[in-house]
Amino acid sequence: MRVFEPAGHGSSIEGLWRAAATGRLSHALLFEGPRGIGKFAAALWFTAGLLCRAGPGRPCLVCPGCKQLAAGDWRGGHADFLRIDPVEEGWDEIPVSAIAERAGERSSVQSLSSFLSLKALESDRRVVVVREAERLNEHAQNALLKTLEEPAPGTVLVLECSRPLELLPTVRSRTVRLAFAPPGRAVALAVLEDAGAPRSTAEALVELTDGSPGESLRLLRQGADSMLELWDRIFAPGSDTLACAGALWELEGDFGDGSALAVSRRRLALFLELGTALVHRARRVAVGAGAEESAQGAGAGALAALVRDGERAAAVRFHRLVDRRRDVDHNLDPGAVLELALLDVRAGARGLP
Ligand SMILES: [Zn+2]
Repeated sequence: MRVFEPAGHGSSIEGLWRAAATGRLSHALLFEGPRGIGKFAAALWFTAGLLCRAGPGRPCLVCPGCKQLAAGDWRGGHADFLRIDPVEEGWDEIPVSAIAERAGERSSVQSLSSFLSLKALESDRRVVVVREAERLNEHAQNALLKTLEEPAPGTVLVLECSRPLELLPTVRSRTVRLAFAPPGRAVALAVLEDAGAPRSTAEALVELTDGSPGESLRLLRQGADSMLELWDRIFAPGSDTLACAGALWELEGDFGDGSALAVSRRRLALFLELGTALVHRARRVAVGAGAEESAQGAGAGALAALVRDGERAAAVRFHRLVDRRRDVDHNLDPGAVLELALLDVRAGARGLP
């Protein structure tokens, strides 16, 4: 299991280790904040510092505790650590069997309650991290309440969650909530550039995701780069907009599983979101609230054309693209929505109301 210090969240975690060192650490923590900003990585880093033989504090990464945690597959190899991870398990929701056994049922995973019923083996703590805790179904949350009410000594439970309102109020109220903010534009840009994104792509994605490095990386993997290039072609002088539109259906990218229609909808939704983000940026540049930094790379040509048309055209385009994005959710035909969106974008250039 990979454990690393997540950019921008070090001081929050150090505060928690200090609390642990002085016996003031709550047994249940809720790491909340937008998706993809490093909350889960922070939860694992925090865990490492609790299970480090020299801890609580910054993990040394060389002691047996640190080595065991980092060993093995995504579950980690430390006997006092349990990771409940719907992403790795491929679960849409976290079933109650991940939290507690029901009489007469056998489960393929170790449950949280059976894990916590064992004594700590390697350290004096037992740490459970639940990734995307908003995916706990209601039965699982009710089972979790029991643990939150009567924790065994040394228990530390971390719930990582980007939609805390989907947790039962009774669960939320039994945790100490820590709000994580995006680590900042510069960090997000660096993460994307490390992943091989050209500067202008990175800037567009950071804008689109409000500075979330994880969400930006996801979009990059989905082929956002080639979609931004398609927006460049659409805005190139003398381009045949509708001919460009057809190219959208040919672009490579991971748009998930499901029917051809569902995949087309996700492809179109991403394309429209990227267009909306470009228009939003152009609007800010046009009113002097943003810098037009990218002179080259994917999306730069479209951005320059949008900026040239001015704030009014950008405003019209923005609202129309937002409406078309909504049409995708309303299950209208993807091909028709795409053509309407591109006609709207052209109308925006003439400043139509
Ligand atoms: Zn260590």
